[in-house]
Amino acid sequence: MSENCVFCKIISRELPSTKVYEDEDVLAFRDINPQADVHFLIIPKSHIESLAHVDTSHAALLGKIMTLASVLAEKEGSINGFRTIVNTGEVGRQDVFHLHVHVLGGDKALPAMIYKRS
Ligand code: 5GP
Ligand code: ZN
Repeated sequence: MSENCVFCKIISRELPSTKVYEDEDVLAFRDINPQADVHFLIIPKSHIESLAHVDTSHAALLGKIMTLASVLAEKEGSINGFRTIVNTGEVGRQDVFHLHVHVLGGDKALPAMIYKRS
């Protein structure tokens, strides 16, 4: 638990969220400002700042999060695929510094990636 971390407050239920999944290691909840018909976040319950702050000791946890992405995307109604995004640090435009995997989907194709170099 890190003080002043909005996602730690969601884990401790100090702040409300719409839960998608929870176990002893992770919590998944809908994004408050959805960018697609399906948009939820999967976070570790331990406060890890970002993907730039993990090491091999986190491999199983990260594996669990990525495995859950697929299961939960389908459960949330994204049957034909989805997109995962992990914004990291300043360059990645990360806003909340508690590691989270965005899962976006729905039943129509998402816009293309931000841009493609030719
Ligand atoms: P980032 O830009 O750090 O990758 O994404 C942070 C995400 O967290 C944003 O999509 C934002 O809408 C979401 N978010 C921020 N505060 C809250 C909150 O209090 N509740 C929920 N459910 N989502 C939040
Ligand atoms: Zn936190």
